[in-house]
Amino acid sequence: MSGEDRDLTRGKPRVLIAGGGIGGLSAALALLQRGFEVDVYEQAAKLEEVGAGVQLSPNGTRALHVLGVLDALETLSCTAEGKEVRHWNTGDTWKLFDLGVEAIERYGFPYLTVWRPDLLETLAAAVRREKPNAIHLGSRCVGFTRAGERVSLLLDDGRQVSGDVLVGADGVHSQIRRALFGAEEPRFSGMIAWRGVIPIGSLPRHMARIVGTNWVGPGGHVVHYPLHRGELMNFVGIAERGDWRIESWSTRGSTEECREDFAEWHDDVHQLIRHAPSLYKWALMVREPMERWTIGRVTLLGDACHPTLPMLAQGAVMAIEDGFILARCFERWPDDVATALDRYERARSERTRAIVLGSADNARRFHNPALADPVGAKEYLDREWSRAAITSRYEWLFTYDVVGAEI
Ligand SMILES: Cc1cc2nc3c(=O)[nH]c(=O)nc-3n(C[C@H](O)[C@H](O)[C@H](O)COP(=O)(O)OP(=O)(O)OC[C@H]3O[C@@H](n4cnc5c(N)ncnc54)[C@H](O)[C@@H]3O)c2cc1C
Repeated sequence: MSGEDRDLTRGKPRVLIAGGGIGGLSAALALLQRGFEVDVYEQAAKLEEVGAGVQLSPNGTRALHVLGVLDALETLSCTAEGKEVRHWNTGDTWKLFDLGVEAIERYGFPYLTVWRPDLLETLAAAVRREKPNAIHLGSRCVGFTRAGERVSLLLDDGRQVSGDVLVGADGVHSQIRRALFGAEEPRFSGMIAWRGVIPIGSLPRHMARIVGTNWVGPGGHVVHYPLHRGELMNFVGIAERGDWRIESWSTRGSTEECREDFAEWHDDVHQLIRHAPSLYKWALMVREPMERWTIGRVTLLGDACHPTLPMLAQGAVMAIEDGFILARCFERWPDDVATALDRYERARSERTRAIVLGSADNARRFHNPALADPVGAKEYLDREWSRAAITSRYEWLFTYDVVGAEI
């Protein structure tokens, strides 16, 4: 940082961020770009993401554009040509929407399907361009203490770092949330998510398409979409079953077990399962939206405060939006931490609550019993995935503008 840059941070609060995931790095970048002094404490010894995919709808890519990282990300990811919905068993296909040209025409920004390591590396590189030593790896946060207008972040190796504000961006098992509000008891949704990433070249030719697909069936759904310049295919299979309670990106399951969960599903789904080099399983837990997530000079963002079922594909996008809105609030009220945090929370509360509740609603839609019988299924799909129904479900999500949103 040059001397001139350092002057920009004078008098502004120093922000500590626990967690260097998608939300923490987005917040760090937006704050650094506004001249704040920021440090990110990430537990991982190396910045490496789970090798899964993430869909970034136009509200998310708009935010990444404003952060100045969209062009770099686009060269690494995929703009799928379209998105379609398919019947779990017959394979009948309904075209949902055009993700390429039409998304740009309608929303101004693309719908990207991204390999998480590509997103994380792009954000981390941008943060380091602003401040080379901003990201502190191997730094596991275990809590914090407060003294007057200062807050100290406690690390598990005994270190303490102090700042003016602490942001818990440490994900679904957030230590900062626990220190603020105590342990929570999430409810099991009755669903597990299978995940795998498949080299696209290993799939049969008719499946190696740059298209996002959502298979819906009674008691489950499967999503697959291309990643990493079309070299990889992401597979997520959600199955209703009651025997698995671990929320983790790294717990492996067997091909056999996954196959059984989708026993009577179309052969294309089994092609994905068969060709996945490894399969991971994650129990989907439900948490009620929080009324408040700030106390004093400590706040939360992303999965730390509003983890959601993945049925609207908005968890990571919400974390990016949170980070940007938080930075806008500090830019507007740089001398008044209490107001900045209060306005941030208010600006995000209603939208994030609606996404958490809407995702649970979509689970019921995707897994509807009407899908069991092909005739009933056609009627159901024609109605629920009509242009009008899709517009009412997604338009309010995709048109959100992090720059224009009221704070
Ligand atoms: C199967 C599945 C599919 C999904 N698909 C989509 C999708 O298509 N689109 C979408 O927008 N969202 C999707 N999501 C949701 C998305 O993955 C999350 O909402 C998103 O990762 C949240 O970002 P975050 O930065 O808040 O948390 P995380 O990504 O979990 O990052 C938290 C970071 O904090 C670090 N950390 C944790 N604890 C500590 C600690 N004590 N000290 C220091 N560091 C710590 C972690 O190592 C990590 O780097 C999906 C989720 C699942 C499970």
